[in-house]
Amino acid sequence: ELDVGWAERWIRQAASDLKAGRDELTELDRRIGDGDHGNNMDRGFTAVVAKLDGQAEPLETVGQVLKLVATTLMSTVGGASGPLYGTAFLRASKVVDQATADAGHLVSLVEAATEGIVARGRAHVGEKTMVDAWQPAVEAAESAAESGDALAVLRAAAEAAEAGAVATVPLVATKGRASYLGERSAGTEDPGARSTAMLLAAAVTAAE
Ligand code: ADP
Ligand code: MG
Ligand code: MG
Repeated sequence: ELDVGWAERWIRQAASDLKAGRDELTELDRRIGDGDHGNNMDRGFTAVVAKLDGQAEPLETVGQVLKLVATTLMSTVGGASGPLYGTAFLRASKVVDQATADAGHLVSLVEAATEGIVARGRAHVGEKTMVDAWQPAVEAAESAAESGDALAVLRAAAEAAEAGAVATVPLVATKGRASYLGERSAGTEDPGARSTAMLLAAAVTAAE
């Protein structure tokens, strides 16, 4: 079982990893987008950490932490990824409305986040977007759920997201800004798939 302390550690770890990865994300987005993804994510998660630091009362549920992330990202990130990650965290917040999350909750969290991204962006696997990291994470989380081990679910999701992000390199984008490049979008990893892999890796680090 993972508690609200884990949720806060996850988000702080993600903020720190996205700051460290800002230039990498920006470089990917410079090649196939408009070069702002690193700054967008860093700005958003820096604002989230400021909100966490400024809470008068400790947050009581995992869902409350995720909801704070959602509302902050929606108001600070902009671009395509702000509403997409905002919707992901908002949907995820609704499925973990308690102080601790077990393996089943974590599967639901990854499923709900992915459903939110797909509902909002209408991208499917293979279109070279963050969905190419999230969808394999869902499948891996569902398979790992049988173990009943929350950390095993997170690890499976994070490993699948990492592999999914790497697998976007040869793809031609058909959604988002990178699709404007057509065939020239091949050869660069999708920035949003990379930031998704970073986010899920941070969830594992925070649980270990
Ligand atoms: P913008 O493209 O507006 O500058 P960002 O650079 O912050 O926004 O985010 C770009 C990322 O958003 C892409 O790498 C891709 O992963 C993701 N993205 C863009 N459009 C979609 C979509 N329709 N569905 C899912 N993800 C998308
Ligand atoms: Mg961009
Ligand atoms: Mg932009």
